[in-house]
Amino acid sequence: MKTIDTIYINGAFVAPHGREPLVLLDPATERETTTVILADDVDAQRAIAAAKAALPVVARTTREERMDWLQRLHDAVAAAEREIVDVMVAEYGGTTAMATGTARRAAASFSIARRLLGEYAFEREVGGARVTMVPHGVVGLITPWNANIGFIATKLSMAIAAGSTAVIKPSELSAAQTALITRVMHGAGLPPGVFNIVTGRGDVVGAEITRHPDVAKISFTGSTSVGKAIARGAVDTMKRVTLELGGKSPTVLLDDADFAKAMPLAVLAAVMNSGQACIAGTRLLVPASRVAEAHALAVRAFEDLVVGPTSDPRVNVGPMVTRKQYERVQDYIRKGIEEGATLLTGGPGRPDGLERGYFVLPTVFGDVRNDMTIARDEIFGPVLSIIPYRDDDEAIAIANDTPYGLHAYVFGADLARANRVAAGIQAGRVFVNGLYDAPEAPFGGFKQSGLGREFGVFGLETYLEPKAIMGHDKAL
Ligand code: NAD
Repeated sequence: MKTIDTIYINGAFVAPHGREPLVLLDPATERETTTVILADDVDAQRAIAAAKAALPVVARTTREERMDWLQRLHDAVAAAEREIVDVMVAEYGGTTAMATGTARRAAASFSIARRLLGEYAFEREVGGARVTMVPHGVVGLITPWNANIGFIATKLSMAIAAGSTAVIKPSELSAAQTALITRVMHGAGLPPGVFNIVTGRGDVVGAEITRHPDVAKISFTGSTSVGKAIARGAVDTMKRVTLELGGKSPTVLLDDADFAKAMPLAVLAAVMNSGQACIAGTRLLVPASRVAEAHALAVRAFEDLVVGPTSDPRVNVGPMVTRKQYERVQDYIRKGIEEGATLLTGGPGRPDGLERGYFVLPTVFGDVRNDMTIARDEIFGPVLSIIPYRDDDEAIAIANDTPYGLHAYVFGADLARANRVAAGIQAGRVFVNGLYDAPEAPFGGFKQSGLGREFGVFGLETYLEPKAIMGHDKAL
């Protein structure tokens, strides 16, 4: 059993003021692996003070110096790829594919931010004013457990490019991932206080960051309910907020689509990160005329999924992160049956031979109506709801009949038609005829999936605020 009993403030690993221990379990075996000593509000205040004290240091840097920091962070994170994959697999049961993708994207975030910093016009003339894009100051970065290292990298890289300093509050369930990335980023040798990392409870450390007057902006990734609490709390000090929240993303198979090609991608979209992904395509909208074919293909693809401990790289569905999440998925599966959806494969309980660990059966429901609970709530597990539709207009209407709007997927042979459907769906991102890695295209949600965008130049600009000076060229 490991103990993690330091947090990272002002460039040093220090013992937290908080004393509360939290024991983390391996979700694949339910064995205790780690005791983490949680930081408290005093620790959060210290981290915020360190970030504030480092602001003048950052303000004096040139663009080239910050580009050099980002290069060093990139190199440090890239060199740790193997360790990052291992810790993600071990700590939350991430699949090898997911963990490898996250590790590479984490390193790439820093090189992308470096390039943007080199190109970005921080100053321009607009409407007779000299407009300067200025950093916010101290930013709070709050991340979830499901790709903690990836989110830390995307957020911190842009904060540094903008010229801010950061207090990072990772998920308390990600203590080992956080310990690793802290050590790795410490090795990049940035000045003390530029980033500080404080693992503690959301309602303690996260709440302190949310209310503290010296924090100017929060970038949060996590559930919609916590995002709303942060937005409410942030308004008292008028913090800027970027919220990346939950989703219930539709995958639309148009009636001219080659289902044999589209279904494997649709299933991958549904079960990525074992279904524990904000962008998971968990509502599969199929034309009523081809329902039987869609059911058969989806069932076959789900039954081919390999469920088990992700230490085996062939596994594509690992355990749910905690017992609570396991129970939650079970509850939704039972609810789907109670509400009259047709259970096509999977169901309640565990896969054969996996008596320990938070493993669930990859489950497909057919004949789902979009007003059923399983079609409305974000389940965060490998549960797919197949919903029939009559025509393209109805497909778009069903796709949009949700409080969320993070992501969507459309498959069809007629590209103009597929693009028309994509244009009609209210979502921050739509993938047409494929799954794409697009780390510079804007990422974020419509409606209750969030506020603001991350990634690329849109992401950088959420860490900047325009300041207009008129008369800057006028001597008296
Ligand atoms: P969560 O909302 O429970 O926790 C996220 C973070 O917020 C954690 O660090 C947590 O400690 C902190 N937190 C909790 N209460 C807080 C409070 N009152 N004040 C401040 N911070 C608080 O989410 P989770 O279970 O870690 O992650 C799963 C959720 O994240 C899902 O809903 C998923 O859709 C969402 N998510 C969204 C994206 C996206 O980019 N849109 C990406 C990944 C995950």
